[in-house]
Amino acid sequence: MMLNRRMLLAAAAAAPVLGLRAADAAAPFINAPAPAYYRFKLGQFEITVVSDGPLILPAPDQVMSEAPKPDIERMLKAARLPTNTWIGPQNLVVVNTGRNLVLFDTGMGDRSKAMGPNNGHLMRNLALAGIDPASIDVVCITHAHIDHCWGLVDARDRLNFPNARVALSQADFDFWTQESLLNNPATRDFVLYTRTNLLPVKDRLIAVRDGAEVVPGITAVATFGHTAGHHSYLIESEGKKLLNTGDVAHHPVLQLRHPEWKVIAWDSDPAAGSATRRRVLQQLATDGTPAIFYHFPFPGLGTVAPSGDAFAWLPTPINEG
Ligand SMILES: [Zn+2]
Repeated sequence: MMLNRRMLLAAAAAAPVLGLRAADAAAPFINAPAPAYYRFKLGQFEITVVSDGPLILPAPDQVMSEAPKPDIERMLKAARLPTNTWIGPQNLVVVNTGRNLVLFDTGMGDRSKAMGPNNGHLMRNLALAGIDPASIDVVCITHAHIDHCWGLVDARDRLNFPNARVALSQADFDFWTQESLLNNPATRDFVLYTRTNLLPVKDRLIAVRDGAEVVPGITAVATFGHTAGHHSYLIESEGKKLLNTGDVAHHPVLQLRHPEWKVIAWDSDPAAGSATRRRVLQQLATDGTPAIFYHFPFPGLGTVAPSGDAFAWLPTPINEG
């Protein structure tokens, strides 16, 4: 086609209009949660933190009910955090050691929205992260609370990880599957679904103990208090270490500054929980080992720094390819 002068002028006049329209074009909303995983290398190991989505938790002053309320309110406001609620992320960890594929904790599962509507995303995010649940050969459970073990089975009681053994302390397995707790209205619903998840894996349980190697490069570390059998897991490759702490601490501001504040609402033994928290935080602050905390902002990865007579949380990515 031959362009004459009139056509060129018309095209030039139209261009800004067309450009403006392109810039203003409305894109459709996606209206689905974004893929939520974060991947990094630790020595030879490939680690993927996978989100199960956030929990809506009671306000911190209800959970740490003996701590001074004005101090909690002041610290939360200074950190620009709400004082009347608490959003608790869930950071699940997958470690590919080259020999084993290990998942740590399983989130809320499909059965319950008791902790808010936007969780139970483990299986979706595993798929988006390219991880086949059938390839997972060990699931390490830090402790048998609902947000950590309710993803072992799906809503129809089928195993989500059909080829995996399950590492968990015998103390937690025994306590949280007690039939007698079904008679207590305060614990019945929790224990009902905990039994649904744990009893089917009873014959594939690895009863973890302090210092026991689960697979090469992954060692259980007793961190009792939150539950009687709570364990963290030390992940180590080529001299590089990472401590997956579970629920040693839940809040990156309040509990780093005041590890002694007792978690009255959630800890089986609040005094032991506080002592363990200070001991683990002190160790991390002293040796600089990076850590993952299950309920800290995604991906929950960082280091603990000394700060006054306590600690501060420094979110720190690990970027080694
Ligand atoms: Zn938890």
